[in-house]
Amino acid sequence: MPWRVGPSDRKAGVLPDPYAVWMSEIMLQQTTVAAVRDYHRKFLALWPTVGDLAAADDADVMAAWAGLGYYARARNLLKCARAVVAEHDGVFPDSYEQLLKLPGIGPYTAAAVSAIAFDRPETVVDGNVERVMARLHDIHAPLPGSKGELTTKAQALTPQSRPGDYAQAVMDLGATICTPRNPACGICPWRDPCAARLAGTAAELPKKTPKKKTPTRFGIVYVARRTDGAWLLETRPEKGLLGGMLGWPGSEWGDEPEENPPYEADWQPLNAEARHTFTHFHLRLKIMVDYADIDATPLRGTFLTPDVFSPTALPTAMRKVFDLAHMTLRDN
Ligand code: SF4
Repeated sequence: MPWRVGPSDRKAGVLPDPYAVWMSEIMLQQTTVAAVRDYHRKFLALWPTVGDLAAADDADVMAAWAGLGYYARARNLLKCARAVVAEHDGVFPDSYEQLLKLPGIGPYTAAAVSAIAFDRPETVVDGNVERVMARLHDIHAPLPGSKGELTTKAQALTPQSRPGDYAQAVMDLGATICTPRNPACGICPWRDPCAARLAGTAAELPKKTPKKKTPTRFGIVYVARRTDGAWLLETRPEKGLLGGMLGWPGSEWGDEPEENPPYEADWQPLNAEARHTFTHFHLRLKIMVDYADIDATPLRGTFLTPDVFSPTALPTAMRKVFDLAHMTLRDN
């Protein structure tokens, strides 16, 4: 992982760059290491310091984030970088309490940055650590109700010596050895004290309270292409899902979306709909398309010509709409 410092450097007293660690933790929220690695490299190449990121254009950062999902994180990334510059002279604070005051940094991220970047004895508890603790102590109470108990167990094990290495080691143990299925107990450093291994219950832990069924919301989007190749797009409101990102004008998302085209025209429905799953719901978007006249005057949105618009700047849900509509609204 590009944000890590190797064991020999660490032994020699080298600590990782807090900016790189913080960026990795924000990106890793809800996203896998494999997906984050390239984005992390790209962001550090574009904005090598927190000062560079703080001075970046919002639109450039949102576009670079496109595809990584959960866009509130990108907005918070910028807010946090600007707060570090404005309130801390561009130097990340090194304590849990101060980190927690920064935008977009919750208890987990504050603990992770504090432990990994500054070697503070904070307890970092992610899903991997919860699984390891549940098995190590053979705890059968289901998540999320058992979070408190698992955190207490993790706190009791956090050492004063090399807490940063320890935090990463336990997370890595969960990610690579104490995996959800088929934990490799034979090569686990905790195989002797592990209560679940002794009881033969490791594979069934941690238990989880069954989830409610994910609801589905519906929406209508209007995709217009002008005769000069320009697409009608709008910047979504700052608040709410995909806030501040580019998108197609459309309805609210709900059970029965209302039609509200951006201008009067003979809008034609596509046969296919765009489907996307967010954390708490599935979204199904009906797509209406139209070739607009060069003098069309929409009530919402702006026509963006190909020299200023690239579909890669769209968040994934809107990109799926583009991919479907583009087949119909090909170049004239
Ligand atoms: S012994 Fe097995 S179940 Fe226990 S912590 Fe190690 S990998 Fe997980």
